[in-house]
Amino acid sequence: MAEIGHGGKEIVERILEPAEAKEKIKGLKQIPIRSQIANEVIDIAYGFFCPLEGFMGKADLDSVCKNMRLANGVLWSIPILFDMSDAEIADYGIKVGDSVVLTYQGNPLALFEIEEIYEYDKKAICQAVYGTTEDKHPGCARTYAYKDKFLGGKITLVNRPKINPPFEPFFIPPLEMRKRFKEKGWVRIVAHQTRNVPHTGHEWLMKGAWFQTYGELPIEKPIVGILVNAIIGEKRKGDYIDEAIILCQDELRKAGYFGDHNHMTSLTFWDMRYAGPKEAVFHAILRTNLGLTHHMFGRDHAGVGTYYGPYDAHRLLESVKDDLRITPVYSMNWLYCPHCGEVTSEGLCNHRDEWQKFSGTVIRSIVMDGVKPPRLIFRPEVFDLVMECAEKYGFGSPFVTDEYLKNRTPVFSVPPLE
Ligand SMILES: [Zn+2]
Repeated sequence: MAEIGHGGKEIVERILEPAEAKEKIKGLKQIPIRSQIANEVIDIAYGFFCPLEGFMGKADLDSVCKNMRLANGVLWSIPILFDMSDAEIADYGIKVGDSVVLTYQGNPLALFEIEEIYEYDKKAICQAVYGTTEDKHPGCARTYAYKDKFLGGKITLVNRPKINPPFEPFFIPPLEMRKRFKEKGWVRIVAHQTRNVPHTGHEWLMKGAWFQTYGELPIEKPIVGILVNAIIGEKRKGDYIDEAIILCQDELRKAGYFGDHNHMTSLTFWDMRYAGPKEAVFHAILRTNLGLTHHMFGRDHAGVGTYYGPYDAHRLLESVKDDLRITPVYSMNWLYCPHCGEVTSEGLCNHRDEWQKFSGTVIRSIVMDGVKPPRLIFRPEVFDLVMECAEKYGFGSPFVTDEYLKNRTPVFSVPPLE
């Protein structure tokens, strides 16, 4: 049976088997790519970005900027672009109609059929996607860092990435994910977007979203699942290390706060744009393709600084609801109330003077101290695992350091094509 993704299009993996791949790339020019582009190549090939089959041409980019839609009318909020400088284009002797091999870590990753080479005003992209042209916005900075020409065309993977430990079990592409959901018998699945090690506030965000998603369904047997989908991409100093994020999220299931019957953890390769509302729409599209039926959106989803209002993302999602095949589930903040003696929602408890909000800074200092925090703030199993990950993967720190950036094992490797 066809698996239908965003925009009503069938999800098809664009991946060649090794023998055919070797034949196809024979004699073609090889172009090395950076990690952001490699992540997006993988996403395109496995169907995370359905209905995209490659990097955007000018008509699609223009339409995404002006109408938040592809040229064919399908809702799309973040441009997916392949950039090159004039000098590189000249050096490689690249022209429209060429096929080239994109290499990563020195080995062939994908075939790129170049259909178009064009220019586009980067400021216009920033204004459209981020609502600002300030280069201190990380998404704008990423846009300004693109070289001066964009290349549009189809991508086909010629070599599957090898996912390195401890990440192997968590890379579950759309077609495989949908199979797993069927095996579990889940009829509704809600996405929890994360780049964090979970404290109990996050745990309750998931629990709240699970109740909301369950809605009117019968409760005789569990048929609603939560998918924690961690965004894995470029790291900045001070972020949690990837290993701690993915393993600690899964620990909530292993330690019994959830179970196999309602909880799964996976990862998606993506460099966060911090586009707030537009990124919320993009996350909805990604998770539609993964087979989810619902998506939880909290306060200031994918925002940064004070660029977006706390509920701007909710409003934008509401306005495009009819174009989504996934139902947004909105959440207020969860916090700890000592009077109630529990984690509660700011929409429920009225002991406002006593609220202890889960601030990133407070949680960080708890983790830095290395002294086990109260279990109503941080689960002991999760805390122990954060410390273990620091030793095992983080060169002594659960947060990204220069040493980690320099010496960590990459999340995936591209092996030689044999
Ligand atoms: Zn209270």
